[in-house]
Amino acid sequence: MSPRARRPILPRMPISPLASDTIAAIATPPGRGAVALLRVSGPGAFGVLRRIAPGLDGIPPRTQRLVALRHPETGEVLDRGLVTLFPAPGSYTGEDTAEISTHGGVLTPQLVLDALLAAGARAAEPGEFTRRAYLNGKLDLLQAEAVADLIDGRSRALHRAAVHQMERGLSRRIEELRGAVISAESLIAYSIDFPEEDEPPVPPERVRAAVADVLRRIEALLATAPEGELLREGALTVLAGRPNSGKSSLFNALLGTERAIVTEIPGTTRDALEASVTLDGYPFRLVDTAGLRDTADRVEGMGIEVARRYLAAADLVIFCIESGREPGDDDRAFLAGRDPARTVVVRTKSDLHPVEAADEAAIAIPSVSIAATEGTGLPALRDRLLQLAFGHILGDPGEAPLVTRERHARALRHARDEIASFIAALDEQVPMELAATHLRAAAGAMEDLIGAVTVDDVLDRVFGDFCVGK
Ligand code: GDP
Repeated sequence: MSPRARRPILPRMPISPLASDTIAAIATPPGRGAVALLRVSGPGAFGVLRRIAPGLDGIPPRTQRLVALRHPETGEVLDRGLVTLFPAPGSYTGEDTAEISTHGGVLTPQLVLDALLAAGARAAEPGEFTRRAYLNGKLDLLQAEAVADLIDGRSRALHRAAVHQMERGLSRRIEELRGAVISAESLIAYSIDFPEEDEPPVPPERVRAAVADVLRRIEALLATAPEGELLREGALTVLAGRPNSGKSSLFNALLGTERAIVTEIPGTTRDALEASVTLDGYPFRLVDTAGLRDTADRVEGMGIEVARRYLAAADLVIFCIESGREPGDDDRAFLAGRDPARTVVVRTKSDLHPVEAADEAAIAIPSVSIAATEGTGLPALRDRLLQLAFGHILGDPGEAPLVTRERHARALRHARDEIASFIAALDEQVPMELAATHLRAAAGAMEDLIGAVTVDDVLDRVFGDFCVGK
Protein backbone atom coordinates (compact mmCIF):
# COMPACT_ATOMS: atom_id res chain seq x y z
CA MET A 1 0.00 0.00 0.00
CA SER A 2 1.43 3.38 -0.87
CA PRO A 3 1.85 6.02 1.84
CA ARG A 4 -1.06 7.94 0.32
CA ALA A 5 -3.44 5.15 1.12
CA ARG A 6 -2.62 5.39 4.79
CA ARG A 7 -2.81 9.14 4.95
CA PRO A 8 -5.08 10.04 7.86
CA ILE A 9 -7.75 12.63 7.50
CA LEU A 10 -5.97 15.85 8.37
CA PRO A 11 -6.81 17.50 11.65
CA ARG A 12 -8.75 20.67 11.15
CA MET A 13 -7.30 24.05 11.89
CA PRO A 14 -9.35 26.63 13.72
CA ILE A 15 -10.70 28.64 10.83
CA SER A 16 -13.62 30.48 12.30
CA PRO A 17 -13.10 34.06 13.47
CA LEU A 18 -15.60 33.27 16.24
CA ALA A 19 -13.12 30.88 17.76
CA SER A 20 -10.88 33.62 19.02
CA ASP A 21 -13.09 35.23 21.65
CA THR A 22 -14.39 33.95 24.97
CA ILE A 23 -17.94 32.65 25.20
CA ALA A 24 -20.18 31.82 28.14
CA ALA A 25 -23.56 30.15 28.55
CA ILE A 26 -25.81 28.34 30.97
CA ALA A 27 -25.56 24.71 29.88
CA THR A 28 -28.52 23.36 31.85
CA PRO A 29 -32.18 24.12 31.10
CA PRO A 30 -33.89 26.88 33.07
CA GLY A 31 -36.22 25.95 35.87
CA ARG A 32 -36.27 24.85 39.46
CA GLY A 33 -33.49 22.39 40.24
CA ALA A 34 -30.66 21.69 42.64
CA VAL A 35 -27.78 22.64 40.39
CA ALA A 36 -27.13 24.57 37.19
CA LEU A 37 -23.97 24.41 35.09
CA LEU A 38 -22.37 27.34 33.29
CA ARG A 39 -19.54 27.07 30.82
CA VAL A 40 -16.92 29.55 29.69
CA SER A 41 -14.54 28.82 26.82
CA GLY A 42 -11.87 30.75 24.96
CA PRO A 43 -8.45 32.25 25.45
CA GLY A 44 -9.78 34.67 28.06
CA ALA A 45 -11.79 32.10 30.02
CA PHE A 46 -9.55 31.97 33.07
CA GLY A 47 -9.18 35.76 33.16
CA VAL A 48 -12.97 36.12 33.11
CA LEU A 49 -13.26 33.58 35.91
CA ARG A 50 -10.69 35.35 38.03
CA ARG A 51 -12.70 38.56 37.75
CA ILE A 52 -15.82 36.95 39.25
CA ALA A 53 -13.99 34.55 41.60
CA PRO A 54 -10.77 36.13 42.84
CA GLY A 55 -10.13 33.14 45.11
CA LEU A 56 -9.32 30.92 42.15
CA ASP A 57 -5.60 31.63 41.93
CA GLY A 58 -3.53 28.50 42.23
CA ILE A 59 -6.39 26.02 41.71
CA PRO A 60 -4.97 22.95 39.94
CA PRO A 61 -6.55 21.96 36.59
CA ARG A 62 -9.59 19.66 36.71
CA THR A 63 -10.04 20.11 40.43
CA GLN A 64 -13.23 21.51 41.83
CA ARG A 65 -13.01 24.47 44.15
CA LEU A 66 -15.88 26.02 46.09
CA VAL A 67 -15.69 29.79 45.68
CA ALA A 68 -17.81 32.90 46.12
CA LEU A 69 -19.05 34.16 42.75
CA ARG A 70 -19.21 37.96 42.59
CA HIS A 71 -20.34 40.55 40.13
CA PRO A 72 -17.07 41.99 38.77
CA GLU A 73 -18.21 45.61 39.03
CA THR A 74 -20.27 45.76 42.22
CA GLY A 75 -18.48 42.99 44.10
CA GLU A 76 -21.87 41.63 45.21
CA VAL A 77 -21.78 37.92 46.07
CA LEU A 78 -24.29 36.19 43.78
CA ASP A 79 -23.79 32.57 44.87
CA ARG A 80 -21.18 30.13 46.04
CA GLY A 81 -20.33 27.63 43.32
CA LEU A 82 -17.96 24.86 42.33
CA VAL A 83 -15.47 25.90 39.67
CA THR A 84 -13.33 23.58 37.56
CA LEU A 85 -10.67 24.77 35.11
CA PHE A 86 -9.77 22.76 32.01
CA PRO A 87 -6.69 24.26 30.35
CA ALA A 88 -6.33 23.93 26.56
CA PRO A 89 -6.10 21.55 24.81
CA GLY A 90 -7.47 19.08 27.36
CA SER A 91 -11.03 20.38 27.35
CA TYR A 92 -14.27 19.71 25.50
CA THR A 93 -13.71 22.64 23.14
CA GLY A 94 -9.93 22.30 22.99
CA GLU A 95 -9.68 25.84 24.42
CA ASP A 96 -9.21 27.03 28.00
CA THR A 97 -12.57 26.15 29.50
CA ALA A 98 -14.16 26.64 32.91
CA GLU A 99 -17.26 25.01 34.32
CA ILE A 100 -19.20 26.56 37.16
CA SER A 101 -21.86 24.72 39.13
CA THR A 102 -24.24 27.13 40.81
CA HIS A 103 -27.52 26.66 42.58
CA GLY A 104 -30.31 25.97 40.11
CA GLY A 105 -33.47 27.91 39.44
CA VAL A 106 -34.25 30.68 37.08
CA LEU A 107 -32.45 33.63 38.63
CA THR A 108 -29.14 32.54 40.18
CA PRO A 109 -27.58 31.01 37.06
CA GLN A 110 -28.70 34.01 35.02
CA LEU A 111 -27.08 36.44 37.48
CA VAL A 112 -23.83 34.48 37.33
CA LEU A 113 -24.01 34.49 33.53
CA ASP A 114 -24.55 38.26 33.59
CA ALA A 115 -21.46 38.53 35.80
CA LEU A 116 -19.42 36.47 33.31
CA LEU A 117 -20.57 38.72 30.48
CA ALA A 118 -19.73 41.82 32.51
CA ALA A 119 -16.28 40.27 33.10
CA GLY A 120 -15.61 40.12 29.36
CA ALA A 121 -17.23 36.98 27.97
CA ARG A 122 -19.72 36.96 25.10
CA ALA A 123 -23.01 35.04 25.20
CA ALA A 124 -22.51 31.80 23.23
CA GLU A 125 -24.58 30.96 20.16
CA PRO A 126 -26.47 27.63 20.11
CA GLY A 127 -24.00 24.77 19.61
CA GLU A 128 -21.00 27.06 19.71
CA PHE A 129 -19.04 25.00 22.26
CA THR A 130 -19.39 21.86 20.14
CA ARG A 131 -18.63 23.83 16.99
CA ARG A 132 -15.36 24.92 18.59
CA ALA A 133 -14.67 21.33 19.67
CA TYR A 134 -15.11 20.34 16.03
CA LEU A 135 -12.98 23.19 14.69
CA ASN A 136 -10.22 22.30 17.16
CA GLY A 137 -10.22 18.66 16.08
CA LYS A 138 -11.71 17.30 19.33
CA LEU A 139 -14.69 15.77 17.52
CA ASP A 140 -15.43 15.00 13.90
CA LEU A 141 -18.67 16.17 12.34
CA LEU A 142 -20.41 12.81 12.77
CA GLN A 143 -19.52 12.82 16.46
CA ALA A 144 -20.82 16.38 16.82
CA GLU A 145 -24.14 15.30 15.29
CA ALA A 146 -24.23 12.37 17.70
CA VAL A 147 -23.92 14.83 20.60
CA ALA A 148 -27.05 16.59 19.33
CA ASP A 149 -28.85 13.24 19.07
CA LEU A 150 -27.91 12.31 22.62
CA ILE A 151 -29.52 15.53 23.79
CA ASP A 152 -32.58 15.46 21.54
CA GLY A 153 -33.14 11.71 21.30
CA ARG A 154 -36.32 10.41 22.85
CA SER A 155 -36.02 6.72 22.11
CA ARG A 156 -33.56 4.14 23.33
CA ALA A 157 -32.92 3.10 19.74
CA LEU A 158 -31.77 6.59 18.69
CA HIS A 159 -29.82 6.87 21.92
CA ARG A 160 -27.93 3.64 21.18
CA ALA A 161 -27.21 4.76 17.63
CA ALA A 162 -25.99 8.12 18.92
CA VAL A 163 -23.67 6.55 21.49
CA HIS A 164 -22.22 4.28 18.80
CA GLN A 165 -21.75 7.28 16.51
CA MET A 166 -20.21 9.37 19.29
CA GLU A 167 -17.73 6.53 19.87
CA ARG A 168 -16.74 6.98 16.19
CA GLY A 169 -18.47 3.79 15.00
CA LEU A 170 -19.80 5.47 11.87
CA SER A 171 -16.67 7.59 11.44
CA ARG A 172 -14.45 4.49 11.49
CA ARG A 173 -16.63 2.74 8.93
CA ILE A 174 -16.48 5.77 6.62
CA GLU A 175 -12.71 6.03 7.11
CA GLU A 176 -12.30 2.36 6.15
CA LEU A 177 -14.35 2.86 3.01
CA ARG A 178 -12.46 6.02 2.12
CA GLY A 179 -9.16 4.21 2.77
CA ALA A 180 -10.16 1.43 0.40
CA VAL A 181 -11.04 3.93 -2.34
CA ILE A 182 -7.74 5.75 -1.86
CA SER A 183 -5.86 2.44 -2.00
CA ALA A 184 -7.45 1.72 -5.37
CA GLU A 185 -6.58 5.23 -6.50
CA SER A 186 -3.00 4.71 -5.35
CA LEU A 187 -2.65 1.45 -7.26
CA ILE A 188 -3.66 3.30 -10.41
CA ALA A 189 -1.37 6.25 -9.66
CA TYR A 190 1.52 3.89 -8.98
CA SER A 191 1.32 2.29 -12.40
CA ILE A 192 1.21 5.75 -14.01
CA ASP A 193 4.01 7.26 -11.94
CA PHE A 194 6.42 4.33 -12.30
CA PRO A 195 5.68 2.77 -15.69
CA GLU A 196 9.31 1.73 -16.08
CA GLU A 197 9.24 -0.32 -12.85
CA ASP A 198 9.83 -4.00 -13.35
CA GLU A 199 6.64 -4.90 -11.60
CA PRO A 200 3.87 -5.59 -14.05
CA PRO A 201 1.13 -2.96 -14.23
CA VAL A 202 -1.67 -3.33 -11.73
CA PRO A 203 -4.27 -5.67 -13.13
CA PRO A 204 -7.53 -3.81 -13.69
CA GLU A 205 -9.46 -6.74 -12.24
CA ARG A 206 -7.79 -6.13 -8.91
CA VAL A 207 -8.85 -2.49 -8.85
CA ARG A 208 -12.30 -3.40 -10.05
CA ALA A 209 -12.76 -6.04 -7.36
CA ALA A 210 -11.59 -3.63 -4.67
CA VAL A 211 -14.01 -0.87 -5.64
CA ALA A 212 -16.87 -3.31 -6.18
CA ASP A 213 -16.37 -4.38 -2.57
CA VAL A 214 -16.52 -0.74 -1.42
CA LEU A 215 -19.66 -0.26 -3.46
CA ARG A 216 -21.30 -3.23 -1.78
CA ARG A 217 -20.39 -1.93 1.68
CA ILE A 218 -21.69 1.56 0.91
CA GLU A 219 -24.96 0.03 -0.31
CA ALA A 220 -25.23 -1.92 2.94
CA LEU A 221 -24.78 1.26 4.96
CA LEU A 222 -27.25 3.17 2.78
CA ALA A 223 -29.81 0.41 3.30
CA THR A 224 -30.06 1.50 6.94
CA ALA A 225 -30.89 5.09 5.97
CA PRO A 226 -34.69 5.02 5.59
CA GLU A 227 -35.22 3.36 8.96
CA GLY A 228 -32.28 5.15 10.58
CA GLU A 229 -33.80 8.50 9.65
CA LEU A 230 -37.13 7.39 11.15
CA LEU A 231 -35.40 7.02 14.52
CA ARG A 232 -35.31 10.79 14.77
CA GLU A 233 -38.90 11.63 13.84
CA GLY A 234 -40.67 8.42 14.77
CA ALA A 235 -42.60 6.27 12.30
CA LEU A 236 -45.80 8.14 11.41
CA THR A 237 -48.48 5.51 12.03
CA VAL A 238 -52.02 6.44 11.07
CA LEU A 239 -55.10 4.61 12.32
CA ALA A 240 -57.77 4.30 9.64
CA GLY A 241 -61.04 2.45 9.25
CA ARG A 242 -64.78 2.95 9.41
CA PRO A 243 -66.39 4.86 12.23
CA ASN A 244 -66.73 2.70 15.33
CA SER A 245 -64.20 0.19 14.08
CA GLY A 246 -62.23 0.65 17.29
CA LYS A 247 -59.52 3.10 16.21
CA SER A 248 -59.63 5.37 19.24
CA SER A 249 -59.73 2.45 21.64
CA LEU A 250 -56.69 0.95 19.95
CA PHE A 251 -54.93 4.33 19.97
CA ASN A 252 -55.46 4.59 23.71
CA ALA A 253 -54.50 0.99 24.30
CA LEU A 254 -51.23 1.38 22.42
CA LEU A 255 -50.41 4.48 24.41
CA GLY A 256 -51.59 2.98 27.67
CA THR A 257 -49.46 -0.13 27.43
CA GLU A 258 -46.30 1.88 27.21
CA ARG A 259 -44.83 3.87 30.04
CA ALA A 260 -42.76 6.01 27.72
CA ILE A 261 -45.37 8.39 26.40
CA VAL A 262 -43.39 11.39 25.40
CA THR A 263 -45.99 13.87 24.36
CA GLU A 264 -49.65 13.89 23.68
CA ILE A 265 -50.51 16.89 21.60
CA PRO A 266 -53.80 17.67 19.97
CA GLY A 267 -53.17 17.40 16.27
CA THR A 268 -52.50 20.35 14.07
CA THR A 269 -56.18 20.31 13.20
CA ARG A 270 -59.27 19.51 15.21
CA ASP A 271 -59.67 16.34 13.23
CA ALA A 272 -56.62 14.42 14.32
CA LEU A 273 -54.99 13.43 17.54
CA GLU A 274 -51.29 12.71 17.51
CA ALA A 275 -49.16 11.15 20.22
CA SER A 276 -45.55 10.06 20.38
CA VAL A 277 -44.88 6.66 21.86
CA THR A 278 -41.95 4.30 21.96
CA LEU A 279 -42.63 0.63 21.33
CA ASP A 280 -39.80 -1.53 22.62
CA GLY A 281 -37.52 1.51 22.50
CA TYR A 282 -38.36 2.51 18.91
CA PRO A 283 -40.21 5.76 18.25
CA PHE A 284 -43.65 6.01 16.66
CA ARG A 285 -46.00 8.92 16.06
CA LEU A 286 -49.51 7.54 16.38
CA VAL A 287 -52.30 9.46 14.69
CA ASP A 288 -55.98 8.87 15.33
CA THR A 289 -57.93 10.61 12.63
CA ALA A 290 -60.83 11.09 14.96
CA GLY A 291 -62.67 13.46 12.66
CA LEU A 292 -63.57 10.61 10.36
CA ARG A 293 -66.04 9.42 12.92
CA ASP A 294 -68.27 12.42 12.93
CA THR A 295 -69.19 12.91 9.33
CA ALA A 296 -70.40 9.58 8.07
CA ASP A 297 -71.24 10.78 4.58
CA ARG A 298 -67.73 11.98 3.96
CA VAL A 299 -66.18 8.88 5.46
CA GLU A 300 -67.28 6.80 2.52
CA GLY A 301 -64.35 7.64 0.32
CA MET A 302 -61.95 8.44 3.15
CA GLY A 303 -62.21 11.86 1.66
CA ILE A 304 -61.53 14.06 4.63
CA GLU A 305 -58.62 16.28 3.88
CA VAL A 306 -56.81 15.85 7.17
CA ALA A 307 -56.96 12.09 7.04
CA ARG A 308 -55.82 12.13 3.46
CA ARG A 309 -52.85 14.31 4.29
CA TYR A 310 -51.84 12.07 7.15
CA LEU A 311 -52.36 8.96 5.08
CA ALA A 312 -50.24 10.37 2.27
CA ALA A 313 -47.41 11.08 4.70
CA ALA A 314 -47.81 7.89 6.73
CA ASP A 315 -44.97 5.47 7.16
CA LEU A 316 -47.47 2.88 8.37
CA VAL A 317 -51.24 2.53 8.34
CA ILE A 318 -53.18 0.48 10.87
CA PHE A 319 -56.47 -0.36 9.22
CA CYS A 320 -59.20 -1.41 11.66
CA ILE A 321 -62.02 -3.79 10.78
CA GLU A 322 -64.26 -5.23 13.51
CA SER A 323 -64.02 -8.97 14.01
CA GLY A 324 -67.07 -10.76 12.67
CA ARG A 325 -67.81 -8.09 10.09
CA GLU A 326 -67.31 -8.96 6.46
CA PRO A 327 -64.94 -6.37 4.96
CA GLY A 328 -66.98 -4.04 2.80
CA ASP A 329 -66.23 -2.62 -0.61
CA ASP A 330 -64.95 0.54 1.05
CA ASP A 331 -62.49 -1.48 3.14
CA ARG A 332 -61.32 -3.43 0.10
CA ALA A 333 -60.98 -0.31 -2.00
CA PHE A 334 -58.90 1.34 0.67
CA LEU A 335 -56.65 -1.68 1.13
CA ALA A 336 -56.24 -2.27 -2.59
CA GLY A 337 -54.41 1.02 -2.85
CA ARG A 338 -52.02 0.37 0.03
CA ASP A 339 -48.54 -1.06 0.11
CA PRO A 340 -48.73 -4.29 2.17
CA ALA A 341 -45.24 -3.58 3.51
CA ARG A 342 -46.62 -0.45 5.15
CA THR A 343 -50.04 -1.60 6.23
CA VAL A 344 -51.32 -3.66 9.14
CA VAL A 345 -54.89 -4.88 9.14
CA VAL A 346 -56.26 -5.17 12.65
CA ARG A 347 -59.39 -7.17 13.43
CA THR A 348 -60.68 -5.30 16.45
CA LYS A 349 -63.02 -6.33 19.29
CA SER A 350 -61.91 -9.97 19.05
CA ASP A 351 -63.51 -10.55 22.46
CA LEU A 352 -66.92 -10.15 20.81
CA HIS A 353 -66.46 -12.28 17.71
CA PRO A 354 -63.81 -14.84 16.90
CA VAL A 355 -62.21 -14.07 13.55
CA GLU A 356 -63.36 -16.59 10.98
CA ALA A 357 -60.96 -18.02 8.42
CA ALA A 358 -63.33 -16.72 5.77
CA ASP A 359 -62.86 -13.19 7.11
CA GLU A 360 -59.13 -13.62 6.89
CA ALA A 361 -59.26 -14.84 3.31
CA ALA A 362 -61.32 -11.83 2.29
CA ILE A 363 -58.34 -9.52 2.47
CA ALA A 364 -54.93 -10.01 1.02
CA ILE A 365 -52.96 -8.43 3.85
CA PRO A 366 -52.47 -10.68 6.91
CA SER A 367 -54.25 -9.38 9.98
CA VAL A 368 -53.69 -9.20 13.70
CA SER A 369 -56.62 -9.78 16.06
CA ILE A 370 -56.89 -7.58 19.09
CA ALA A 371 -59.27 -6.69 21.87
CA ALA A 372 -58.35 -3.22 23.00
CA THR A 373 -60.56 -3.54 26.06
CA GLU A 374 -58.61 -6.54 27.33
CA GLY A 375 -55.22 -5.87 25.81
CA THR A 376 -55.15 -9.15 23.94
CA GLY A 377 -53.24 -9.19 20.68
CA LEU A 378 -51.38 -5.96 21.43
CA PRO A 379 -47.92 -7.60 21.78
CA ALA A 380 -48.36 -9.25 18.36
CA LEU A 381 -49.46 -5.94 16.85
CA ARG A 382 -46.51 -4.17 18.42
CA ASP A 383 -44.11 -6.77 16.95
CA ARG A 384 -45.68 -6.35 13.52
CA LEU A 385 -45.35 -2.57 13.69
CA LEU A 386 -41.71 -2.87 14.77
CA GLN A 387 -40.92 -5.26 11.95
CA LEU A 388 -42.57 -3.09 9.32
CA ALA A 389 -41.12 0.21 10.50
CA PHE A 390 -37.67 -0.83 11.71
CA GLY A 391 -37.18 -4.43 10.54
CA HIS A 392 -33.80 -3.77 8.96
CA ILE A 393 -32.26 -2.19 12.01
CA LEU A 394 -33.77 -4.31 14.78
CA GLY A 395 -31.42 -6.81 16.30
CA ASP A 396 -27.92 -5.87 17.33
CA PRO A 397 -28.74 -2.35 18.48
CA GLY A 398 -25.77 -0.09 18.86
CA GLU A 399 -23.40 -2.65 17.35
CA ALA A 400 -23.40 -1.59 13.73
CA PRO A 401 -23.24 1.92 12.32
CA LEU A 402 -26.52 3.38 11.15
CA VAL A 403 -27.23 6.20 8.76
CA THR A 404 -29.58 8.47 10.69
CA ARG A 405 -29.46 11.74 8.77
CA GLU A 406 -30.23 12.88 5.27
CA ARG A 407 -26.78 14.53 5.19
CA HIS A 408 -25.15 11.12 5.63
CA ALA A 409 -27.34 9.44 3.04
CA ARG A 410 -26.69 12.21 0.51
CA ALA A 411 -22.90 11.93 0.89
CA LEU A 412 -23.01 8.14 0.66
CA ARG A 413 -25.22 8.23 -2.44
CA HIS A 414 -22.75 10.65 -3.99
CA ALA A 415 -19.84 8.31 -3.20
CA ARG A 416 -21.78 5.31 -4.49
CA ASP A 417 -22.67 7.04 -7.75
CA GLU A 418 -19.06 8.08 -8.35
CA ILE A 419 -17.80 4.55 -7.79
CA ALA A 420 -20.50 3.18 -10.08
CA SER A 421 -19.39 5.73 -12.71
CA PHE A 422 -15.80 4.54 -12.29
CA ILE A 423 -16.83 0.95 -12.97
CA ALA A 424 -18.99 2.01 -15.91
CA ALA A 425 -16.06 3.97 -17.35
CA LEU A 426 -13.83 0.89 -17.12
CA ASP A 427 -16.54 -1.09 -18.91
CA GLU A 428 -16.40 1.49 -21.69
CA GLN A 429 -12.63 1.06 -21.97
CA VAL A 430 -11.90 4.54 -20.60
CA PRO A 431 -8.26 4.49 -19.45
CA MET A 432 -8.11 3.72 -15.76
CA GLU A 433 -6.16 6.85 -14.88
CA LEU A 434 -8.91 9.02 -16.38
CA ALA A 435 -11.70 7.05 -14.77
CA ALA A 436 -9.90 7.48 -11.44
CA THR A 437 -11.27 11.03 -11.14
CA HIS A 438 -14.49 9.33 -10.02
CA LEU A 439 -12.60 7.63 -7.20
CA ARG A 440 -11.20 10.98 -6.10
CA ALA A 441 -14.75 12.40 -6.01
CA ALA A 442 -16.01 9.39 -4.03
CA ALA A 443 -13.25 9.81 -1.45
CA GLY A 444 -14.07 13.53 -1.29
CA ALA A 445 -17.73 12.81 -0.55
CA MET A 446 -16.71 10.62 2.37
CA GLU A 447 -14.28 13.24 3.64
CA ASP A 448 -17.12 15.78 3.63
CA LEU A 449 -19.24 13.36 5.62
CA ILE A 450 -16.70 13.06 8.42
CA GLY A 451 -16.04 16.77 8.15
CA ALA A 452 -12.41 16.77 7.02
CA VAL A 453 -13.21 19.75 4.84
CA THR A 454 -16.36 21.70 5.50
CA VAL A 455 -17.74 24.99 4.48
CA ASP A 456 -19.41 27.35 6.89
CA ASP A 457 -22.96 26.82 5.68
CA VAL A 458 -22.68 23.08 6.39
CA LEU A 459 -21.47 23.92 9.87
CA ASP A 460 -24.27 26.43 10.35
CA ARG A 461 -26.79 23.74 9.48
CA VAL A 462 -25.23 21.10 11.72
CA PHE A 463 -24.75 23.33 14.75
CA GLY A 464 -27.79 25.59 14.30
CA ASP A 465 -30.08 22.98 15.84
CA PHE A 466 -28.07 22.68 19.05
CA CYS A 467 -29.11 24.21 22.33
CA VAL A 468 -27.19 27.07 23.86
CA GLY A 469 -24.43 25.88 26.17
CA LYS A 470 -23.63 22.75 24.19
P1 GDP B 1 -63.56 4.51 16.37
O1 GDP B 1 -64.79 5.26 15.99
O2 GDP B 1 -63.05 3.71 15.22
O3 GDP B 1 -62.51 5.35 16.98
O4 GDP B 1 -64.00 3.42 17.44
P2 GDP B 1 -63.96 3.48 19.04
O5 GDP B 1 -62.61 3.14 19.52
O6 GDP B 1 -64.57 4.74 19.50
O7 GDP B 1 -64.88 2.24 19.40
C1 GDP B 1 -66.24 2.15 19.01
C2 GDP B 1 -66.99 1.35 20.04
O8 GDP B 1 -66.45 0.03 20.13
C3 GDP B 1 -66.88 1.91 21.43
O9 GDP B 1 -68.12 1.77 22.07
C4 GDP B 1 -65.86 1.05 22.14
O10 GDP B 1 -66.06 0.93 23.51
C5 GDP B 1 -66.07 -0.28 21.45
N1 GDP B 1 -64.83 -1.08 21.42
C6 GDP B 1 -63.63 -0.68 20.92
N2 GDP B 1 -62.74 -1.68 21.05
C7 GDP B 1 -63.36 -2.71 21.68
C8 GDP B 1 -62.93 -4.03 22.09
O11 GDP B 1 -61.80 -4.47 21.95
N3 GDP B 1 -63.87 -4.81 22.66
C9 GDP B 1 -65.17 -4.39 22.85
N4 GDP B 1 -66.01 -5.24 23.42
N5 GDP B 1 -65.58 -3.16 22.47
C10 GDP B 1 -64.69 -2.32 21.90
